[in-house]
Amino acid sequence: MKVVVTGGAGFIGSNLGRELLSRPDVDEVIALDDLSTGFRANLEGTGIRLLEGTILDPDALDAACDGADAVVHLAALPSVPRSVLDPVASHHANATGTLEVLQAARRAGDLHVVVASSSSVYGANRELPKREGMRTAPISPYAVSKQATEAYAMSFGHSYGLPTLAFRFFNVYGPLQSAGHAYAAVIPAFVDAALRGMPLTIHGDGEQTRDFTYVGTVTRVIADAVTRRVTDLEPVNLAFGTRTTLNALVGELSDVLGFAPQVEHVEPRTGDVRDSQADNARLRHHFPDVEPVPLREGLEQTVDWF
Ligand code: NAD
Repeated sequence: MKVVVTGGAGFIGSNLGRELLSRPDVDEVIALDDLSTGFRANLEGTGIRLLEGTILDPDALDAACDGADAVVHLAALPSVPRSVLDPVASHHANATGTLEVLQAARRAGDLHVVVASSSSVYGANRELPKREGMRTAPISPYAVSKQATEAYAMSFGHSYGLPTLAFRFFNVYGPLQSAGHAYAAVIPAFVDAALRGMPLTIHGDGEQTRDFTYVGTVTRVIADAVTRRVTDLEPVNLAFGTRTTLNALVGELSDVLGFAPQVEHVEPRTGDVRDSQADNARLRHHFPDVEPVPLREGLEQTVDWF
């Protein structure tokens, strides 16, 4: 198989490329990436081929998709606060970009397309756990753009019979996730600060919860979806129903590090949801055998990588 990974030089994409190339069915992985938040260095020595370009360019997409069997569409501007500052940029990359990817998949002969949506689509709907069928209520431009991502993918399934699958990722973490920039996710931001002897910054009281998912678990599921050509006309949560407060995360991380970093609390952030926990019945239906890496083990791998 030849697999195109848009955003393949990013955190999840470069982990996924490695996982795909470890599968006997996969011969070639092309990363189509404009390097806006991804890094060429993430691909060095992996065998993943980088095609530098934007998903907003149909010619770049056609070049990447030529002779391919599947596309995993991860390219996006992936940050809530960034979308609050510049909603139009998020819309272009995430919503319009997805439409371009789906059109390219049709032109290339109805490729299987797996897209990345987000738990942020549940937004203001506080019901737990988050079931795919419940009402979505985005509270940030990012969440709206991710709702568009999944809705376009499923509409192409309905309208054109394109074989698609939309995953709702929750908080994915692990090696190759960049830290030390304004939009860093909480786990790399915490590990980076702790290792530099800086305080960990918590927005709010720290009792907000997240369903943290190790990147190795996420990439195994996606690679299974690609090699088995799994499709669904409904989105599928990609998380396992754990619910960890940020305060508890600090405790786990302290155990892994062998010391307790200082913590500072600042104002809650606009657009952040309070609680997050996936219902995973639909995921289990498609992927009954997947065993998630537990948080402790995932944190150990992450700290080792730093
Ligand atoms: P990332 O920033 O590391 O990866 C995104 C990649 O897309 C980067 O390499 C970037 O350069 C590339 N990109 C951005 N705009 C592009 C464009 N126009 N053309 C080509 N490439 C472009 O982020 P990530 O955490 O790996 O996220 C991957 C996907 O998963 C995103 O779609 C994100 O919205 C989604 N997601 C991630 C999480 C998470 O916890 N990390 C949670 C929910 C959803």
